[in-house]
Amino acid sequence: MAKAKTETSMEKITSLCKRRGFIFQNSEIYGGLASTWDYGPLGVELKRNVKEAWWASSVYERDDIAGLDAAILMHPKAWQASGHVKSFFDLLVDCKNCKKRFKLEDLTESGKKKIGQAKCPNCAGTSFTEQRPFNLMFKTFLGPVEETGSQIYLRPETAQGIFVNFNNVLNSTHKKLPFGIAQIGKAFRNEVTTGNFTFRSREFEQMEIEYFVRPPEANKWYKYWIKERFDWYVKLGINPDNLRIREHKKDELAHYAKACADIEYKFPFGWAELEGIANRTDFDLKQHANLSGKDLNYFEQDSKERLVPYIIEPSGGVDRTMLAFLIDAYREEEVRERKRVVLGLDKRLSPIKVAVLPLLKNRAEIVKLAKSITDDLRKNLCGGGKRVVYDDTAAIGRLYRRQDEVGTIFCVTVDVDSLQDKKVTVRQRDSMEQERISIENLKNYLGEKLQS
Ligand SMILES: [Zn+2]
Repeated sequence: MAKAKTETSMEKITSLCKRRGFIFQNSEIYGGLASTWDYGPLGVELKRNVKEAWWASSVYERDDIAGLDAAILMHPKAWQASGHVKSFFDLLVDCKNCKKRFKLEDLTESGKKKIGQAKCPNCAGTSFTEQRPFNLMFKTFLGPVEETGSQIYLRPETAQGIFVNFNNVLNSTHKKLPFGIAQIGKAFRNEVTTGNFTFRSREFEQMEIEYFVRPPEANKWYKYWIKERFDWYVKLGINPDNLRIREHKKDELAHYAKACADIEYKFPFGWAELEGIANRTDFDLKQHANLSGKDLNYFEQDSKERLVPYIIEPSGGVDRTMLAFLIDAYREEEVRERKRVVLGLDKRLSPIKVAVLPLLKNRAEIVKLAKSITDDLRKNLCGGGKRVVYDDTAAIGRLYRRQDEVGTIFCVTVDVDSLQDKKVTVRQRDSMEQERISIENLKNYLGEKLQS
């Protein structure tokens, strides 16, 4: 009955996101702010669920990782230590004819040809200004005086907040190597080239683990984390055929990294990075120790040895991960010669777990019963905290289709018979199977099915 998954286009996803309230253009009434996005009523739920699934597997299900939530603003010396002040920039050139600005690497195919051979993509001009470095960090000022001495940055990555807290976490948790610190938070990069919807934006959210290991064991843990993180996406429903691991070549590596592999997803616009797993060596801790003058060694109790741990960093983007889940879950089926759009999200990710729908909204007893079932599920389903909605804004067929389209796992329909037999119809999203369940048993029945 159901047809196989068709290729999902970005147009279909962006249209669904706007229409159903997942993602909106930021400041839309003013014409929008370039490459900046707002998450709507369903988007905020999906995003929270993605982050919660990550936090559960990275922190709650382990003994060796603790959480952290560091500030976005940091001491400016932190960015000197990290190398961002000196080397986090793009080289830009202007077209002398149309004055448009470009990244040098975009015009020279990442250095494969000389700028003298380049053509302006806008006006086909061939004359460009000298290249100038453009730092990608957003600058702002601390306090009421806008002078160089008070200039600070919005963090371009969350990782540095973890490194500068290395001693604090170590001393407060008494962790032994290997151990990690996990953090989810916003980061900002004044990217010259943005695009592909939420894939690359100037304000974004990262989910990062910094995993501290004995240097000789670094490669073992590097491999461990590549597998661990790949499996996480598959466990939450991404088709493994749409995922691949790409090892960076030596000339692609960041200045601090010894090895790096990307987990890539097959987006409609091509393979692109969801997450990078890097062996950052002891670069960061050594740099911060040097600039701060503080001892950031780890003291090994057994051997009485002091050492600077190596760091393995799995670093994922929340926004692009959410986008990948949306694309991978989207499918169109033909059911009884009608098109059905389904967001086949994993039950842990679906924004809405249960929708309660009255079959007749002009029958007061049915509405009353449906609302009391909604209240009860909100308070008691899986201990509460699961999104349960009540909806009577259309006929039942249309309500089902709307819920399928946003990935709601179960629809509970209250009808005339429910008033007599105290039973409701429970419809499952993927199979569309319907079952009569007693109202008394409903929360246990749904709770069991929603339990991961
Ligand atoms: Zn031009």
